[in-house]
Amino acid sequence: MRWLWHGLESSRRGMELGSAVVYARWMSITRVDLQTTRPGSEGQRVPGGPARAPLPAPSASAGSGRTAGDPQAGEQQDAVERPLVDRFGRVASDLRISLIDKCNLRCTYCMPADGMAWLPKSRLLTGEEVRRLVTIGVRDLGVRELRLTGGEPLVRVDLVDIVAGVRADHPELPISLTTNAVGLAKKARPLAEAGLSRINVSLDTLHAGTFQELARRNHLQATLDGIDAAVEAGLGAPLKINTVLMRGVNDHEAADLLAWAVERGFELRFIEQMPLDADHGWRKDNMVTSTEIRERLAERFVLSADPRERDGAPAERFQVAPVSDPGRIVGTVGIIASVTEPFCSDCRRTRITAEGKVMACLFSREETDLSELLRSGATDDDVADRWREAMWGKPRAHGMGHPGLGDDDFVQPDRSMSAIGG
Ligand code: SAM
Ligand code: SF4
Repeated sequence: MRWLWHGLESSRRGMELGSAVVYARWMSITRVDLQTTRPGSEGQRVPGGPARAPLPAPSASAGSGRTAGDPQAGEQQDAVERPLVDRFGRVASDLRISLIDKCNLRCTYCMPADGMAWLPKSRLLTGEEVRRLVTIGVRDLGVRELRLTGGEPLVRVDLVDIVAGVRADHPELPISLTTNAVGLAKKARPLAEAGLSRINVSLDTLHAGTFQELARRNHLQATLDGIDAAVEAGLGAPLKINTVLMRGVNDHEAADLLAWAVERGFELRFIEQMPLDADHGWRKDNMVTSTEIRERLAERFVLSADPRERDGAPAERFQVAPVSDPGRIVGTVGIIASVTEPFCSDCRRTRITAEGKVMACLFSREETDLSELLRSGATDDDVADRWREAMWGKPRAHGMGHPGLGDDDFVQPDRSMSAIGG
């Protein structure tokens, strides 16, 4: 499908967009032709949002005023006509929905020890609203992958029902969950039966004392039990482990954690600590960088570039072999260098917070409310349009239009990671 690109606001952006043709990185949209036309010269410019390109055929959804729950939605996996594009040519197809802002841990890099104001239950997206948003995303906007997160999604009592509902609507959609796994021991099987595809578990240490120090709760065993249950329930295809290293706390465990993960066939991903902690204690000169992580791992492992296509994945992947036998690949490891090597130019994420606000970027200071539309009788088309507008405004990168986390002009967002949905 050929896309005409309209509404580019300045020649600067036109230059940033560079060459005339950008290949869309998503499904069957094969080409995006970038044309620096003036707003209003063709198509209808939506203030702050995407121009409506003249299309060869009417959208399957245009003007239908449908509401979600359309039984065909899950099967419409072909290209949509107006996906979530932004001014810089990126197409968002990876949807992350936070189900709740509450959590049963208090990780120091994410939450304060106490004093967090929770959203009242009435402001959380209901299960039905989550289903409706997913359907609009998949059917009308080109969403191809769903991640449920939080806060801690397992704290949400209707989590299994939400997964079952989305699965019923979208039999083919990959649905994953990011969780600290506390409580997963009981819920892994129901979640698998409800149709969850995969799970990402956050685990920063293998030592109970360090867990207590990092997460301010004594739940290491519950997390490990949850991981075992997830594997037994078939949610490890593959099971991914997310680890944040904190200097002087758990950074010495990098190689141990990798050995542990490799032994179990898990894919470990180290995430550089980002300035998204509620305490605003993050310091660039104190964070553990991807270079340091590789140095730590090199004490016991030889890392070589993973030949698989990165394909929009935030993690740079490496094959892992023991130093004692460098020819024997025993697993893989990923490093998400969000701070030192941001992957903004290839970002495919669109995020919705637990109260239904679109965040085009983790570091956005702008939020676009969808729940108000959902709760005031708006049609799916209205919701889709507002969602498109939000994504159209996605910044080019962190910081003030450049990859500048930790630079002088970087202003940390008010929301912590738990309140955004990581
Ligand atoms: N509670 C769940 C969990 O911990 O997996 C889901 C939500 S949590 C916000 C999602 C991910 O964000 C976790 O893997 C966590 O390690 C990561 N995270 C939280 N704060 C972070 C920060 N400041 N920098 C980097 N990653 C962070
Ligand atoms: Fe909770 Fe996850 Fe944040 Fe830790 S990282 S406090 S588990 S939301």
